[in-house]
Amino acid sequence: MTRPPLTNMQTRDVEALLHPYTNPATLRAEGPFIVSRAEGLHVFDAEGRRYLEGMSGLWCCGLGFGDAELIETAREQLGRLPYYHLFAGRSHEPAIELAERIKELAPGAARVFYQSSGSEANETQIKLVWYFNNARGKPQKKKIISRAKAYHGVTIVSASLTGLPYNHRDFDLPVDRILHTATPHAWRGAEPGEDERAYAARLARELDALIEREGPDTVAAFIAEPVMGAGGVIVPPEGYFEEISAVLARHDVLLIADEVICGFGRTGQWFGHQTLGFKPNAISMAKQLTAGYAPLSAVAIDAEMAAAVEDNASRIGVFGHGFTYGGHPLGCAVGAKALEIYQRRDIPGHVRRIAPLFQARLRALADHPLVGEARGLGLLGALELAPDKSGRAAFEPAGKVGARMAAELQARGVILRAMGDVIGFCPPMIIDEDGIEELFAPIPDALDATLAWAR
Ligand code: PLP
Repeated sequence: MTRPPLTNMQTRDVEALLHPYTNPATLRAEGPFIVSRAEGLHVFDAEGRRYLEGMSGLWCCGLGFGDAELIETAREQLGRLPYYHLFAGRSHEPAIELAERIKELAPGAARVFYQSSGSEANETQIKLVWYFNNARGKPQKKKIISRAKAYHGVTIVSASLTGLPYNHRDFDLPVDRILHTATPHAWRGAEPGEDERAYAARLARELDALIEREGPDTVAAFIAEPVMGAGGVIVPPEGYFEEISAVLARHDVLLIADEVICGFGRTGQWFGHQTLGFKPNAISMAKQLTAGYAPLSAVAIDAEMAAAVEDNASRIGVFGHGFTYGGHPLGCAVGAKALEIYQRRDIPGHVRRIAPLFQARLRALADHPLVGEARGLGLLGALELAPDKSGRAAFEPAGKVGARMAAELQARGVILRAMGDVIGFCPPMIIDEDGIEELFAPIPDALDATLAWAR
């Protein structure tokens, strides 16, 4: 692919910005991809070219771009109350309404706490777990178990929970008290002849052994995305959460569901943990909480945690945690409207109806020589590019083939995300049959072009 010289806007960008998750040298050579506007399923670049946004931005714009109701809600809220906070007993109606809606949708949620990002939500989760265990007289019980390839954010503790090497390397992470157990990925991890259930049981035995080794009195919580997102859209093997939940219950270890990607219909139920059949003590939400139109995250905790936290804070005199923009009226108003839209338009039902087509189109690509595995659940999917289909081989160096594939797709008008050599799919949940056709039509050709380049 030949590249034109950088435009004026691209030059301004590389001279002014440090970009997240970007190779600065490559950026300086190739220039940023500048998006100027968006509509429905599509974004438009500075030259007016149109792209289908197959990742909903960063897994967040579940209602697509330009939803008139969300825009009007935001405008109206900014006009009426552009800012207020929840510190020192202050409140406002959008915060109350959204918390009520979350409680209605999330079974077992007793109290809702707001932040601005998914990272902050998980940071809050860990602080709440520590606070809770101090409150209930278990001050030694503080270790948190996450999983290799998990993505829980980038603040100090949430980045420690994240199980991806580049989030730790040269950041002096992970911090202590954070442990990682295996990624539940049968294609890569199951032994020959081991079926999904047997593999899930083995992962649960490994978790049990880890807790026993560390000392059950020192292990506080296990955190998991129902379907791993940024680690490569990894759907756990059958029976996984059932087995894991039994181990956690035996050792009095809390289960935190990170629903930042899976929440609000993405897997065909309101929450991923419902689709995968487990009951968390606490839930992290962000992204589709506001359909991506305003920054907001929420943590919901169950009645037992809520009661202990409230009692302890009352005894101390204050609950010493909170963010200036936690529960921002803009985010809360947009969030409440997004949830109302999801309910009114039955977005989880739409996902259940359209997902079989999406998954069939995805899995039809599994025979391509560049595809190691095609996988997914609901409107989440991945093509793992690999030298063969064994589940044992990977490209060296990692990431180059995936990056090329993403570039080939973008040149053909489709934006998908390369996570190493895994191509992720997370289209807006409002996608219909025509949108799915537009999403998949250029993929075989892009795979062929990538294969020809890789040889
Ligand atoms: N948790 C999950 C499952 C995520 O996918 C992400 C972001 O992709 C986060 C947490 C962190 O969210 P944020 O980037 O808003 O801090």
